[in-house]
Amino acid sequence: MNEMQLKFLARSENEEFARNAVAAFALPLNPSLVEISDIKTAVSEAVTNCIVHGYAGAEGWITLSCRTEDGCLYVEVSDNGKGIANLEQALTPFYTSLPGEERSGMGFTIMQTFMTSFSVDSKEGTGTTVKMSKDFGAKAEADAG
Ligand code: ATP
Ligand code: MG
Repeated sequence: MNEMQLKFLARSENEEFARNAVAAFALPLNPSLVEISDIKTAVSEAVTNCIVHGYAGAEGWITLSCRTEDGCLYVEVSDNGKGIANLEQALTPFYTSLPGEERSGMGFTIMQTFMTSFSVDSKEGTGTTVKMSKDFGAKAEADAG
C-alpha cells in the first residue's frame, strides 16, 4: 500500500501537473501506456471540472489524494467550490451547464469509461469530490476474463 496527497490552486496550468503526478505515482504498478493515458485523461477531466465549474475561474484549492493497493490505483479529486445541485442531470452524457463555451458535457462520461470505478459526492455550496479507481495489468485481466 502507498498513499500521497497534493493540494494545489485551481489554475489551468496545474491540470498538467496533476495528471503527470498521478501517472508518476502509479508507475510502480507497471501500467501500460494505454492505462497511463487513461488515468491522465480522467484526472485531467476531474481537475478541469473543479477549475471551470467548481470555482468558475475564482481562486480556490483542489485536493488530489491517491492510493495504490493490490494492483489498483484509487484517486480522489476534491474542490470546495459551488457544488452540484442536480447530480443525476450532471452525470447525463452531453449535459453541460456551460453550453457555447466549447464544453461538450462528456467529462464525467469519459472518467466513467476510462476508469474501473467512478462516483461523485457533491453538496451545493460546499463542494464536489470525484472518486475513481483503476485496476492494472494482471488484476484488470483477471477481472475482465
Ligand atoms: P466537458 O467536460 O465535456 O468539457 P462539462 O464539464 O460541462 O463539459 P462534465 O465534465 O461531464 O461536462 O460535467 C457535467 C456538469 O456537471 C458540468 O457542466 C457542471 O454543471 C457539473 N460539474 C462537474 N464537475 C463539477 C464541479 N467540480 N463543481 C461544480 N459543478 C460541476
Ligand atoms: Mg468537464
